Amino acid sequence: MTAEVAARDHLTDLIELECDSSIDEFATVRARAIELRFLAATAGDDEAVRRCDMLIADVLLREGQLGAGGHSAHQTLAWAEQHGQPYVRARAHRVLANFYRLLGDFTEALTHALQGVSFLPADAPPAVRARHLVMLGCTLDDNGSFDEGELRYREVLRIAGELGDDGLTLRALNNMTYNAYEAGDEPAARALAGRMWEVARRGRPLAAKELDTIARVAMMAGRYDELEAALAGALDGTILDTDGDGAAECLLTLAEARRESGRPAAAQAALDGAVALCERNTLTRVRVQVQREQAALYAAMGRYQDAYEELLRFNAGQATLQSTQREARALAMQAIYEANEFREMAQRDALTGIYNRRYINEQLPALLRRGEPLAVAILDLDHFKQINDTLSHATGDAVLQQLGRLLPDGTAGPAVAARLGGEEFLLIMPGLDAAAATLYCERLRRQIRDFPWSPITASLPVTTSIGVATTADGTTTVAALLADADRNLYAAKRAGRDRVVA
Ligand code: GH3
Ligand code: MG
Ligand code: MG
Repeated sequence: MTAEVAARDHLTDLIELECDSSIDEFATVRARAIELRFLAATAGDDEAVRRCDMLIADVLLREGQLGAGGHSAHQTLAWAEQHGQPYVRARAHRVLANFYRLLGDFTEALTHALQGVSFLPADAPPAVRARHLVMLGCTLDDNGSFDEGELRYREVLRIAGELGDDGLTLRALNNMTYNAYEAGDEPAARALAGRMWEVARRGRPLAAKELDTIARVAMMAGRYDELEAALAGALDGTILDTDGDGAAECLLTLAEARRESGRPAAAQAALDGAVALCERNTLTRVRVQVQREQAALYAAMGRYQDAYEELLRFNAGQATLQSTQREARALAMQAIYEANEFREMAQRDALTGIYNRRYINEQLPALLRRGEPLAVAILDLDHFKQINDTLSHATGDAVLQQLGRLLPDGTAGPAVAARLGGEEFLLIMPGLDAAAATLYCERLRRQIRDFPWSPITASLPVTTSIGVATTADGTTTVAALLADADRNLYAAKRAGRDRVVA
């Protein structure tokens, strides 16, 4: 495949992958996302690279690699915020909603899920919107807002119906059924479970999590045969596990049902199967739930000493799980700090270490929007060429570096300086009117002239000319304000240099 063909094709493939809700999606999405990421990177398509990262992060979370998934999502969120990419931003929020759900932080999860929907552009593929709505529905349920959750699932059902996407339909139905089960509403739960079977009969087989829900509904009315039939595939390993830990959860449900129906030996067999799966796939979260069920099972068999010891192991397991979750959270937060550090670095001038033009471009519009008095000044070194020419370029650099140290950095007051380029600097003085700004610049001008420059420039003086501009209420543009300051700077130069003009 030529590079151009690859560049054209990766987007279509990417959208397809983002909208995929086929049964084997979990098994194939990683390999395809990694391949597409390579093609997107080759084509220089940063947005597509980040979208691939979010597909991979989804997989990482499902595999239980929470820290890695959360880190990647936070990184992508920072990138999308800085580059004004709402679609990528919405995707990152959705991954983060899932991340915080898995950490058990339901408030944070809901916040991300809400933003995952609100940042999604109107022209996003309906299948993607539906997935964001499913995530929002789940986090609303987690927070006890079942009616609000229901509204989202209904919307998903509508979209899935229009698309003829049975996978999507099952996602919504599964959550609705589980809610009815949790609410103890057996008729509603049975009706919904029936609708899930209907979809399955159309050809989309039920996956582990879906069968688990159906089994729990059967358990409500003590229909243990029905439950055994639904979960048979979990025992012989033929069940379709699209979530990584679905099969283990099915075995856990099976064990619970068998214990409750008075079949402890059969319950133990199911539980042993669950343990094996948890060990093989390092399913830390389900492993802890298995320990609790084991304690209950021992108690049901009258083995109280074993039950007590298993309960102690359950407590220890829960403590380990919590510390794993804390580590995952710390790793994910690391991405936020890194992004801020990178942003801070990008706003700094390499030679002097003070702020650069990018900082000005980000700060000035925001300052103007405040509608308060604001003064700026452009400061230009006088006859700087002379220093370069008679001494050296390195000496010129040393002067610029020293000047950077003399300029305000915002720590000793609101005034802050940035390098515009060359030997020109901008002073930003929030809250100062023309008179106050002129006074401030006068003092700075004298400080620069009086600085002991001779170790650097020998007998050559270092002086500056400064042009001030002000606005009383921010009703001007950045360009107009800077043009004003530049005009005054020019006037200062013409009038003989080493002076301030306002
Ligand atoms: P004026 O008083 O009219 O401002 O005179 P000037 O010599 O300062 O005039 P001008 O602004 O034209 O010259 C600026 C010089 O600054 C030109 C350029 O070689 C030099 N310069 C720009 N950036 C750097 C830098 O990073 N390091 C050094 N050493 N010199 C620089
Ligand atoms: Mg200049
Ligand atoms: Mg100059």
